Amino acid sequence: MEQMKVILSDSEIPRQWYNVLADLPTPLKPPLHPATGEPVKPEDLAPIFPMNLIEQEVSTDRWIDIPEPVLEKYLLWRPTPLCRARNFERLLNAPVRIYYKHEGTSPAGSHKPNTAIAQAYYNKVFGTKRISTETGAGQWGSALSMACQMFGLACRVFMVRVSYDQKPYRRIMMHTWGAECIPSPSELTEAGRMVLKQNPDSPGSLGIAISEAIEDVVSDPEARYSLGSVLNHVLLHQTIIGLEAELQMKMIGEYPDVVMGCAGGGSNFGGIALPFVRDKIYGKQVTIVGAEPTSCPTMTRGPFAYDFGDLAKKTPLLAMHTLGHDFVPAPIHAGGLRYHGMAPIISHLVREGLVEARAYNQLETFEAGINWARTEGFIPAPETDHVIAAVVDEARRAKEEGKEKVILFSWSGHGLVDLASYEAYLSGKLQPYELPEEEIERALKAIEGFPKP
Ligand SMILES: *Cc1c(COP(=O)(O)O)cnc(C)c1O
Repeated sequence: MEQMKVILSDSEIPRQWYNVLADLPTPLKPPLHPATGEPVKPEDLAPIFPMNLIEQEVSTDRWIDIPEPVLEKYLLWRPTPLCRARNFERLLNAPVRIYYKHEGTSPAGSHKPNTAIAQAYYNKVFGTKRISTETGAGQWGSALSMACQMFGLACRVFMVRVSYDQKPYRRIMMHTWGAECIPSPSELTEAGRMVLKQNPDSPGSLGIAISEAIEDVVSDPEARYSLGSVLNHVLLHQTIIGLEAELQMKMIGEYPDVVMGCAGGGSNFGGIALPFVRDKIYGKQVTIVGAEPTSCPTMTRGPFAYDFGDLAKKTPLLAMHTLGHDFVPAPIHAGGLRYHGMAPIISHLVREGLVEARAYNQLETFEAGINWARTEGFIPAPETDHVIAAVVDEARRAKEEGKEKVILFSWSGHGLVDLASYEAYLSGKLQPYELPEEEIERALKAIEGFPKP
């Protein structure tokens, strides 16, 4: 019988996260204070984040110990299995061996609790009483709600209005885990009120919801803000995925030719990829690919520039691939991955040629996801469908080249709370949407006059 999954025991869980900042060939461009154009100082961020996470954000230590209370929560579902997708391989009929890291086994159903639990813990230790955040489809809001409950913190989630109305289930998850969930734009903040004045029916966006959550915490000294992707410390926490995968691959004598992940803000992709990026920096041959939607093609079409992380310009300027802080994704797009920016670490690695990006439209991604569900059983999240489309594409390339390849990817979450988007696909309601060229011009306009990285 062939081995189909590799399971680590509790005692084999990695005890440290990996910090790629220690190994980058050239340093990251620093975040800038928008008023001065100078690099932000830790104290500038103190009203927004707890100091222990700010220190982690700028740390260049290669290995960072995972605190015991965080490990204890990780062990509720980690280490996650590394699975061989033998049935999907048969369907593809290409010379590939496909391994996936099953992050859909977490209580919230995605990789997001890996950082939610760490962030809740560091906030608790720091003395934060309440955390405020934003969420799109609700994966991040639900993961953070659970984590806050575990560490006795209050949690307020600003949820993008269109998802709040159309996707009630993750809101109910948030309530079940004891959090407060507010549709954004809301009347609670100046940023929300401004948007509502211009458009009372605004569907909202992640950029608006981030502005609201930040405004909410700076006026409350006991509250801090939390971001579920993009930032260095978030990618750091997610490296548990790649570190476990590295051990599991070693146990069966495999090493990947290609490592893949879907990328919204870049934390899931960074999580699987960064330990292998390290190998690549030190000379190993490995192709590392991030998959994004053609409707939100941040890495493949967005300029690398300094831009804000939110609509109301409350964040520092980050050097990243961006579609402009005023980007509002097309509502016809069913999947997630709709943030306008990409993690500075991932953007930097793309520029360094250590990582490459490919974009897929939503018809390709749902087709891939449905083929996955019909062979491997598990129904993937619409975001995860993007990396599955990239795997299909990679298998086709391997077949054309007549080359055997080992593919490793992060199966970032299950789609059981996103079935409405499958229904939209199955009933022929989705279009292969590509971002129009005018939108790239709008993005360039949004960053006009900003400092250049
Ligand atoms: C949030 C989410 C993503 C995107 O994660 P990023 O870290 O923002 O790139 C991918 N897959 C699933 C299932 C998610 O919930």
